Amino acid sequence: MPDVAFVNGVFMPPADAMVSIDDRGFQFGDGIYEVLRTYRGQPFELEAHLARLDRSAAALDLIQPYSRAEWTKHLLEGIRRAAYPEAKIYIQLTRGVAPRDHAYAADLVPTVVMTVRELHSLSRSMQTDGVEAITIEDIRWGRCDIKSLNLLGNVFARQQAKRAQVFEAILVKAGSITEGAVSNVMVVRGGTIMTAPEGPTILSGVTRAVVLELARKAGLPVQECGITQTDLYGVDEVFLTGTTVEVLAVVRVDGKVIKDGRPGPITQRLAAGFTGLAG
Ligand code: PLP
Repeated sequence: MPDVAFVNGVFMPPADAMVSIDDRGFQFGDGIYEVLRTYRGQPFELEAHLARLDRSAAALDLIQPYSRAEWTKHLLEGIRRAAYPEAKIYIQLTRGVAPRDHAYAADLVPTVVMTVRELHSLSRSMQTDGVEAITIEDIRWGRCDIKSLNLLGNVFARQQAKRAQVFEAILVKAGSITEGAVSNVMVVRGGTIMTAPEGPTILSGVTRAVVLELARKAGLPVQECGITQTDLYGVDEVFLTGTTVEVLAVVRVDGKVIKDGRPGPITQRLAAGFTGLAG
């Protein structure tokens, strides 16, 4: 079963996929992306991901070359060609090719890249025992709600987590938690689920929305509010949400054990609810 690439409307093996060195995605990170996955062979929350792609494109004044129906057609064809049991789909859209100049012309033709690769789930032990995280300063730019290719802040954060031999870096801006390097962060305190509100400091995660909806339907109190770094160490539960992490307990932050060091009851309930919905 092969990995599949798609460049500007044409499917090909990834080894044959090429873009110009003058592409603004390469030169400036001038572009956006989406990552989605399949469950039982079907793309999960496709509409929500395509809606976010549209929002990111509009925010950066990028031309969206395909309608949602056309994206859906290409995506399903990619999934069909790759034929993996479960697939991870990466979509990238850049402003296109032009001689290097920070300012851009309005008529550039966007470059579209998509890859479909096999999805490898997190290990069973991570899912059942939880993971460890560190906190680090959030040095990213002021529009983290746009899923842009400018990921250096996330790259640095994730590399620090790797060096510390923990799974995720939890980002802290002006004393409050924003999100993870590749996930949204939620905590539980006194039975209430708390997470940073939508806005320019976080990416509004598709999984975040699904999990908050699950929680509200289950009658669990939810507060979209600031959580300080010092509060974090004393909460009852911490968990991450995201396309690749799903609902994942964090049992230790900066070496400090959260509660009893085991995934908490609300995290487990939401993880089970999410699996029931998606998996
Ligand atoms: N926040 C950041 C910075 C991310 O990179 C991601 C996913 O990659 C998320 C949150 C979670 O978003 P989603 O649930 O849409 O995958």
